[in-house]
Amino acid sequence: MKECPTEAQVAAIGILSQNDFGDYKTYKVACACGCDHHIGDVVISADERGISMTQSTTVSTAYWHQYCKINYTECWPLINAKYFVNAAINRIALVWQVLFKGNITMTGDIVMTQQQTINYANTLTHAMADVEQFRQARINNM
Ligand SMILES: [Zn+2]
Repeated sequence: MKECPTEAQVAAIGILSQNDFGDYKTYKVACACGCDHHIGDVVISADERGISMTQSTTVSTAYWHQYCKINYTECWPLINAKYFVNAAINRIALVWQVLFKGNITMTGDIVMTQQQTINYANTLTHAMADVEQFRQARINNM
């Protein structure tokens, strides 16, 4: 059983501790670009086989790809029309790829700043040591 917290936790840039069940910890890893679409999930857990880390990222299609590259900087209606045309062509291109290529190219990137990378590595190191303590305690109680 976990003790009641008595000290404030230290915040780390780019790493959010989500759940801590002792031998099972989950984190959110934010992308340095600030986009909500680029968030990774990290799970560190310990069981009879050892410690494992799972990282997953939500991926998306290349929705930012510009088919219409004409630059209408001074005309707002044409800029809006360009975005509409690009979005429509993107959807058609995706359907085309699925039909005739059989798959869609997708990407999932998480950019980390130097500070975030240090925080990320430090979080993983401490989480692994922590879940290992729970694993050893469970093994010793068997
Ligand atoms: Zn990003």
